[in-house]
Order: sequence, then structure tokens, then C-alpha cells
Amino acid sequence: MEDTVLVVNCGSSSIKLALFDGKHRKLASALAERLNQNGAFARIDGDQQTIPLKPDASQDEALEALVTAFRDRKVMASVPAAIGHRVVHGGETFREAVLIDEGVVSAIEDCAGLAPLHNPVNLSGIRATLTLFPDVPQAAVFDTAFHQTLPKRAFLYALPESWYRNWGVRRYGFHGTSHAFMALEAARLLGKTQATTSVISAHLGNGCSITAIRDGISVDTSMGLTPLEGLVMGTRSGDVDPGLFDFLRGKGVGAEEVHRVLNQESGLLGLSGQSNDMRSLCELADHGHEPSQTAIDVFCFRLARYIGAMMASLRHLDALVFTGGIGENSARVRQETVSHLRLMGFKLSEELNKHHGEISDGRIESADSRFPVLVIPTNEELVIAREASRLAGAADPS
Ligand code: ADP
Repeated sequence: MEDTVLVVNCGSSSIKLALFDGKHRKLASALAERLNQNGAFARIDGDQQTIPLKPDASQDEALEALVTAFRDRKVMASVPAAIGHRVVHGGETFREAVLIDEGVVSAIEDCAGLAPLHNPVNLSGIRATLTLFPDVPQAAVFDTAFHQTLPKRAFLYALPESWYRNWGVRRYGFHGTSHAFMALEAARLLGKTQATTSVISAHLGNGCSITAIRDGISVDTSMGLTPLEGLVMGTRSGDVDPGLFDFLRGKGVGAEEVHRVLNQESGLLGLSGQSNDMRSLCELADHGHEPSQTAIDVFCFRLARYIGAMMASLRHLDALVFTGGIGENSARVRQETVSHLRLMGFKLSEELNKHHGEISDGRIESADSRFPVLVIPTNEELVIAREASRLAGAADPS
């Protein structure tokens, strides 16, 4: 058996696969999109040819097609030694990644009420790979697990305690795999151990969240019961006044519609009226499109407020870290955000902020900044691959 690791990220309309070698170097990746809609397609990254799929292909069908394509093109010569799955919600059951067995499958099912759009599709990916590779150890790596160290004062809402006790209404936090990677990488870049490193980690992609990491563990985070709370995101509103629901009911807009708009038509898209894509908004703003500039301003200001809020959880700060598509690539967003934080002593070097990839090891603060500021590319697939190998190794007596 070759010691490759397959990473599966099965979402509601897409599947991403990545294959790593035994040293956790990425060998290949593949993507299937627009699943369960008319127009599904799949391809291996870097390969011009698309992989044939039924137009309304399901997750199971797409996964099988991607695995077959990996095999046919000799990308995956034999069965992998381990498989790692991204699972969105582990509730309070899972504090870390686990090897999948029947009990784990049913516990993930039990958490589905907390993530009805995600856990069932994550599970369909797990079931499909269990059928395709019945003898391979498979691990579930949860987006929520890293945040299970949050203290009560950070995870409880000021709601009737019985809502938490009976229904699990509390803050869970997401993007845990990415924030955990930031804790590790920041420590490495700063020449410290993870257990002594405290950072504020801002993951800014289509979904956005920020986490306070104290001595290597998560102690506060911006996403809550669902991934809707907190920062402004591509199409999600982040924080709003919950009184909005009653107010809009008075205007004839029902709760379901408000929920849909908050998730799908708000955030950068809602504010700009144009796009959920930060790069497009920056271009539009450069051409004088005011609503796009407003969207960027609201995004950065909300983020700056949250950076301030995260300070309440830390005894000291080793670095502010930016990651995710926006955090890694948008010097403009980093600059505008940090410009709100001068009172706290954060300052960027214009030069390093623009060219950090070429001239520094991710450090972008100016010489007179009170705190280091880092840009670190996230790599959730790598974390999942490492966890899967570790757990599979532990399971294998040889
Ligand atoms: P996902 O959460 O789907 O993984 P990503 O982490 O890939 O998303 O982030 C996507 C976001 O990153 C988009 O808003 C995209 O516009 C933004 N982005 C990528 N490159 C740049 C860039 N050079 N400048 C500004 N934004 C960028």
C-alpha cells in the first residue's frame, strides 16, 4: 500500500479532492462543481480535459468520477493509506479529529441539526469513500473542534440557560482547521513554540472569521452557533441586530426570507450590489464605483472592531495574522483595516504590505509597530492530511 493521503472536502454543491504523498507534499487536486444542479462539471487541476459527469450529478457520483479519473490518469496508483474528511460541525462531541467508525458517523448525524446544509453532505462524502475504500482508515476533521477550548464566558450567549442545555444554543466557531494552522505557522515564523504563542488570526475568504489564540489554543472567535455571525463576508451579513427579524416581519418579509438574504444576498454582495468577490470590488472601487468602496470600508471597519474585541481575551500578543484569499492577497484590505488600529499601536510598512511574498517571510509591520503583523497562506487540506495520517498511523499496529 502506497502511503498517500486523500483529502475530501464535500460541500453542498462542490467536492474538492487533494492527494498528498507520505511527506505531505501535494501530488494532485481535483474539483467538481454545480452538483445537484443542471450543469455539473469536474476537472483535475492543471488538466485541460474535463471529467465526464451527468449534468445533475450528485456528490456520490462526482466523488466516484473524480477517484476514477485520479486512477485512470495514474495520479493515484493504488489505494491511499489514509483518507481525511472535512466535517463542518462536531458540536460539543468532538474536540479533535477522530477515526471514523459507525459511532462517529451517527454522532456526526446527531450534529446535523446544527449544520443542516453541511453535515449531511459531509456525511455523504464519508459514506461514498467508505464504499470505495472499505479497508482504508478514514478520519473526520472538524471545523469546530479547535474552538472547543473556548471558555464559557466566550461561548455562551446571554440567552436563557435552558436554550443551551436543551438545544445546544451556544457559540461554536468555524474555520478551526485554518486557525489551528495559523497558530502553528505563526509560532514557527516567530521562532516560538505553539504553546507559548498568542495570535489574533483573521481568516478572510468567502467566509470570514477571526480567532483569539492564547498560548496555542482558541479562546474567542467571531462565528457563533452558525457561520453567519461576526465579520462581513462575501454574501453573509455577519452581525446584525436580531430585532431585524421582527422589524422586517412588519414589512411583510418573513423569517425564512430574511435568513436567506442574510446568508446569500448580504455582505460584500449586498452592500456593493455588484459582487461578492473582493478583487472585483477593488477594481470597481478604483473605477469610481462608490458602493463597492463602501462595501470594502464596512468590511475593513468591522474587521478592525473585532481585532480590538479579540484583545480582551489575550494576556500578550505575538502577532496579528492575515490569511484566506482576501487576507493573503489584498494589501488594500490589510492596510485599510490596520489604519483603524493606530491607537493600539498596529502599523504596517507600505512596502512590506505590498511585496511581503518577495522580500520578507510574511512580516508586514513597520519598524515602529507595537505588534508584528503576518501574512500566512492557509492550508486546510494539509492539516487534514496530517491529521488523517497521524490517526491512521495510530490505528495501524504495524
Ligand atoms: P473560500 O472561502 O471560498 O476558500 P478564498 O479563501 O479563496 O475563498 O477567498 C476568496 C476571496 O479572496 C474572494 O473575495 C477573492 O476576490 C479574494 N481574493 C483573491 N485574490 C485577491 C486579490 N489579489 N485581491 C483581493 N482579493 C482577492
